[in-house]
Amino acid sequence: MTDVQKILEVAQAAGRKAAVVCRAVHAQTPESMDKGDKSPVTIADYGSQAVILRELAAAFPDHGVISEEGSEHLRESAGDEGVATIVSLVNEATGENADFDQVCAWIDHEGVDGAEYTWAIDPIDGTKGFLRRQQYAIAIGLMRNGVPFAGVMVCPNLPVDLNQPDGAKGVMYVAAQGQGCQRIPLDGGDAAAAKSSQSADPASWRVLGSVESSHGDPKLVVTMMEEAGVQGGFVRYDSQVKYGIIAEGAAEIYLRPRSKPDYRENIWDHVAGVICCQEAGGVVTDVDGKPLDFTLGKKLLENRGVLATGNPEMHEQVVAGIAAAEAALQA
Ligand code: AMP
Ligand code: MG
Repeated sequence: MTDVQKILEVAQAAGRKAAVVCRAVHAQTPESMDKGDKSPVTIADYGSQAVILRELAAAFPDHGVISEEGSEHLRESAGDEGVATIVSLVNEATGENADFDQVCAWIDHEGVDGAEYTWAIDPIDGTKGFLRRQQYAIAIGLMRNGVPFAGVMVCPNLPVDLNQPDGAKGVMYVAAQGQGCQRIPLDGGDAAAAKSSQSADPASWRVLGSVESSHGDPKLVVTMMEEAGVQGGFVRYDSQVKYGIIAEGAAEIYLRPRSKPDYRENIWDHVAGVICCQEAGGVVTDVDGKPLDFTLGKKLLENRGVLATGNPEMHEQVVAGIAAAEAALQA
């Protein structure tokens, strides 16, 4: 097995186990246990991270890991019932007989600092969507020397056929550098190559945004659409599943301007999605058309927001539209 094959196999297996945890919690009524920064987190976030990092630590002990959650808040706030729940969720998904300390050790696994390969993990991206029983993604991204290299995005609640929203749910996007992007039904069915939209007509371009309007700058997005003649309307999804939607050509533009001047994007909200999008033919930069710099730790410190589109020509037109919109709004 080549390295890339092993990476994709382990990441998919980890993502599938994490989906077992998330679906089990989803079948109940997931409850939020707010973190100090007011962002919601659930027992499923911790359980998902534990099973993912258990797999990655075993298969790739010499890789690094940057992940969203840590066990400290879990230890403080879970209580006896929460501890029992998370331990049983993790053991059911993994077939292990781990205790709470072991689960916490998996959650806190960081691997090797400065390694050639570093994983960026969001165990539940779009926790607000998860709590609303809408969209969320288990995001397992891998960087090689600070460049997105491979990614698995498991979307347990995404319709297998986007045109049949009430039909079967569960989709996995899988990509690695130079290998293309596959869209795989989670519970069986044929994998298909994901290909981004090549539409040359801005009037038909559809724009992806967050369900949470506070995660962006809606005024800038609408003004960009006016400036660039984009009229295909809005499509809204929580989480980095938006990159998957661009990857499979179900929308043309994912524009995520800074929500406030000091907001910096977390790398785990992007690595897995970016490689899936790029490998499907899409282009990802910041809103100025500058490449995303994943070498600066947990955050995209040197980028202004994020822009993903279906191809280079589209990208150029949208970057010009954003610049025109910013000038118009400042005038
Ligand atoms: P989305 O579902 O696309 O809105 O993205 C969810 C992610 O947005 C979460 O995982 C957070 O890391 C991130 N987030 C939280 N607050 C903000 C904010 N003020 N601006 C941009 N992103 C945010
Ligand atoms: Mg996230």
